[in-house]
Amino acid sequence: MSHRVDNFCSGPAALPTAVLEKAQAELLDWQGMGVSVMELSHRSQEFQAVCDTAEKNLRDLLGIPVNYRVLFLQGGATLQFSAIPLNLASAGQVADYIDTGIWSRKALAEGKRYCAARVAASADASGYTSVPPESQWQLSDKAAYVHITPNETIGGVEFDWIPETGDVPLVADLSSTILSRPLDVSRFGLIYAGAQKNIGPSGLTVVIVREDLLDRAQGVTPTLLSYRTQADNGSMYNTPPTLAIYLAGLVFEWLREQGGLSAMAEINRRKAARLYAYIDESDFYNNPIEVSSRSWMNIPFTLADDQLNGRFLNEAEESGLLNLQGHRSVGGMRASIYNAISEDAVGRLIGFMDEFARQVR
Ligand SMILES: *Cc1c(COP(=O)(O)O)cnc(C)c1O
Repeated sequence: MSHRVDNFCSGPAALPTAVLEKAQAELLDWQGMGVSVMELSHRSQEFQAVCDTAEKNLRDLLGIPVNYRVLFLQGGATLQFSAIPLNLASAGQVADYIDTGIWSRKALAEGKRYCAARVAASADASGYTSVPPESQWQLSDKAAYVHITPNETIGGVEFDWIPETGDVPLVADLSSTILSRPLDVSRFGLIYAGAQKNIGPSGLTVVIVREDLLDRAQGVTPTLLSYRTQADNGSMYNTPPTLAIYLAGLVFEWLREQGGLSAMAEINRRKAARLYAYIDESDFYNNPIEVSSRSWMNIPFTLADDQLNGRFLNEAEESGLLNLQGHRSVGGMRASIYNAISEDAVGRLIGFMDEFARQVR
């Protein structure tokens, strides 16, 4: 097999090697058709079967109820920041946003362009190191929706409890945590995720939306952003990202082979616990996030001396550990340990960190 490093990139992130090998093996001649899967019409029976199987496997993995539609869209999670208010709110209507970090604030800023988006709770007071407890959320009575970002990819803040919003639809940006563990989809009105963290390559955005929310758009919604239009056209109002859907489908199959999301949750829990335990025991590394709000997927950490950051990254790379640099807005390091990162890879990272800390002392 060719040389593969441990890639801790936050996104586009590592894909399971087995998935890439399968794609490679069938790249030139997909299912004996003599063409690659990306050279097929999206309207062909064969490609429709790719979409149907991908959707079925995703439905099985997440236990998606029948009254929810699965949409395979483009534009990233970022375009959903606009699509959500344009589909679910009317101009001037209130929408509640929970501010837990950079991604929730981006969603809020876009929401404000189309409705009366407001902050109903913020992690600001804690310096974005913890999630504001539900008891402190000040939700509006007649909000169009409540928007949450259960995993803040940059800050490394996560909550896996699902807030109670009564009749108000709960909308969640699950870009960096979907498929990391089981999820009760029935508690949400809408879930969305850019694929390039834990689903597949970039170019695909998965939206899971409850059917009764398909018809709330107020008329100005661009056709391509309309959930109703996309649902009625099987996500093929225009040409979908066929290669990305195919690859996501392979990832869903791989997840089923691993034992599904309960099995992934156990592995992910252990991976994160090991890395946090090592950081907490060390007097050289630090993670500032309150224990109950720590992400399983994105683990930021700093070194005792920032001057050593460059050397840490260089030596990590020489050891085959890539993309550990923190986001430019927070500095330090960040290890993204999505589903495709094995427990062994986390072990190798800890081994390297330990040796580095010893060396520089
Ligand atoms: C990466 C990310 C986004 C942005 O996704 P794009 O697909 O690049 O638009 C939004 N929200 C969260 C939580 C993310 O991790």
